[in-house]
Amino acid sequence: MSDSIPRVTEIHAIPQQEFREGSQLDTARNVYTLLQVRTDAGITGIGSCYTSTDLVRAALGRLHDLIIGEVAIEPERVHEKLEQSGFWWGRGGTITHTISGIDIALWDIFGQVTGQPIARLLGGYYREKVKPYASLSMSRHDQLKADLEAAMARGFKAFKLGWGRFGRTGNPADDEAIIRMARQTVGDGEIMVDPGGSQQFWPHSYKWALRTADMLADYDVVWFEEALPPDDLEGYKLLREHSRVMISAGEVLTRRQSFEPFLEQGAWDIVQPDCTKVGGISEARHIAWMAYRHNILTVPHGWNTAVGLAADMHLIAALPVGKWVEYHQPSQVIDEIVVEPFQMDEEGMLRVPTKPGLGIELDWDGIEKLSYGTYKHD
Ligand SMILES: [Mg+2]
Repeated sequence: MSDSIPRVTEIHAIPQQEFREGSQLDTARNVYTLLQVRTDAGITGIGSCYTSTDLVRAALGRLHDLIIGEVAIEPERVHEKLEQSGFWWGRGGTITHTISGIDIALWDIFGQVTGQPIARLLGGYYREKVKPYASLSMSRHDQLKADLEAAMARGFKAFKLGWGRFGRTGNPADDEAIIRMARQTVGDGEIMVDPGGSQQFWPHSYKWALRTADMLADYDVVWFEEALPPDDLEGYKLLREHSRVMISAGEVLTRRQSFEPFLEQGAWDIVQPDCTKVGGISEARHIAWMAYRHNILTVPHGWNTAVGLAADMHLIAALPVGKWVEYHQPSQVIDEIVVEPFQMDEEGMLRVPTKPGLGIELDWDGIEKLSYGTYKHD
């Protein structure tokens, strides 16, 4: 092969954490890591991992000899090489989360070198716009109505309520009161509900989930997410069969092999792989196409950075059937690290980037700020 092919020379892990004055970078709150991949051609790519930077750095140390010097414009092969090389190193965990960021950055580089946006390299644009839903935390219970109104004012037409006290007070009427308030607030906007069954020691099983799904159907909720613990295959199969609202899950699974039984046995209506966890765009694409073969919709999990959101938009644009992407609100790691914040049109839709690679311009001042001064851009 020609020497003019760009090769990977360095990878920098950049911690990102929501900024609070007087606060410090700490492992518990640093749940995002950006990965900058540099090449001998002077082109750099950016990726994102949904995990803390200390874990990413440990994995990068282990992956170093496998990735430095590699071809920078063959994301899928390099991703598969790294993943299969990690079979003995805790595959599916930190190693896979870190490969996710490398993979996204390599797709970004591939796009810049070829002058094409990632969606085209993935097969092409089935759609030019995607529908972001404002992903809101019910842990901000007292502010939830204000959060919904702020998201509406920003142009969102779809809203997901996640975690917080839903399913945790012991009184189903408390859950219904939240959904009633949300329906009254957003009118005919789309509502999704995510109690967060991947929290440790989630106490509910099929009967609670079905009863709650019935309540949600009365409020015309679009989907019910992670109503059960993440590995409850049999529970999800039953719930999908009997629920009137769509059933979704998959955000904590990694590697396509983990998704296979759920997809092949029809356990969900919607699968929610996270590009920044499952192994990158390459792996999410395998999962999404497997889901498509079973007529299961992919809606990427994206409690995420602007880099992860951009990756999700390209992935969804390049699937035969696709609609939504998750957009965490409020979120500094999305809105403050890009030069041009994402803007919705009057229908509440986002235009998928069309510039080369991820097609976003990073605001390095914002990234430095959210790294709490631990990263200096050069
Ligand atoms: Mg969720």
